[in-house]
Amino acid sequence: MTFLTIQDISKRYGPVLALDSIALKVATGSRTAIVGPSGSGKTTLLRIIAGFEQPDSGRVVLQGETLADGPATVPAHRRGIGIVSQDGALFPHLSVAENIGFGIERGATDRAKRIGDLVDMVELDHAMLDRRPHQLSGGQQQRVALARALARKPRLMLLDEPFSALDTGLRENMRKAVARVLQTAGITAILVTHDQAEALSFADQVAVLRSGRLVQAGPPQTLYLHPVDRETATFLGDALLLPAHLDNGFADCVLGRLATDSAGKSGPVDIMLRPEQLQLSTAADMDDGGRCFGTVDDIEFGGALCTVTLRLAERNGGSTLTVKCSGIGLPTIGSTVEVSVRGSAHVFARA
Ligand code: ADP
Ligand code: MG
Repeated sequence: MTFLTIQDISKRYGPVLALDSIALKVATGSRTAIVGPSGSGKTTLLRIIAGFEQPDSGRVVLQGETLADGPATVPAHRRGIGIVSQDGALFPHLSVAENIGFGIERGATDRAKRIGDLVDMVELDHAMLDRRPHQLSGGQQQRVALARALARKPRLMLLDEPFSALDTGLRENMRKAVARVLQTAGITAILVTHDQAEALSFADQVAVLRSGRLVQAGPPQTLYLHPVDRETATFLGDALLLPAHLDNGFADCVLGRLATDSAGKSGPVDIMLRPEQLQLSTAADMDDGGRCFGTVDDIEFGGALCTVTLRLAERNGGSTLTVKCSGIGLPTIGSTVEVSVRGSAHVFARA
């Protein structure tokens, strides 16, 4: 069921068109990630949903209620929307308990219990309750910011790069913790991030913004394997792009004849493969003409993911090919390997 509808939202700051006719639907109880390079309009879109900015045109509809229709808007405090920003923006002079309790009515008899429950929910130690924000780590501050936003029982939670100030390990933990908390509370969420791995793992729906335009939205797997254009492909992860000739849905290229996601089509194209689709195996002999062989030129050890540079056999075009593979069972430099492909290639029209 559609929970939030963003209809043709445009917003201009002087000469800058920050948002250009954005349309997006968010399902009840789902998690959406908005990704895009810096300056692509992510924060502007979130601020318009929250009610801190007004769109020049377009509508924001939440649970059937119109929150913005061009410049006519419902004020932010009446929207039932929580927001956690990059820096958490805690009140520095208030304790953790007072920060979290900010959204709870002063006279509420169960105030202390509700604060305690929220602290449990975001997995913070009760010993932190009397501390001031500056006495907490970055991750703890973000948990407090989340608890404070949850205290108001929002219908929708907006998260604007809330993990970007945290170290890699902590980021992952926080991302999982936040996903768990939102799921348990049944709160629909929109996360803004410029980290594609974070978006792909957090969300049910990923929306890619570029220069104020929504270039693609859909499930993470769909965007990763079937990106709408080359820029989106490389933004979402490493990609190998190869020229190919499409013949009734099969691509003939230096790697041999590959299945693609363009059934029945023919003509000159470019194909995309994700690095993990390529597999190297020891080649006993270069027998069969349909297969792809190469000689290992260079290996860059990278732990979990290593980079192997191959020079393809003359009959496979003789070009250089870079393959990412596991550090287990790496070939040796100078050896001959066979390159095989798992899954199907994604097809782009030739530019
Ligand atoms: P992101 O969050 O993706 O980095 P923003 O939404 O912050 O992008 O900004 C989108 C564009 O709008 C940028 O070019 C930015 O400089 C411009 N912009 C954002 N807010 C303002 C503002 N208050 N005044 C003028 N320009 C702004
Ligand atoms: Mg931003």
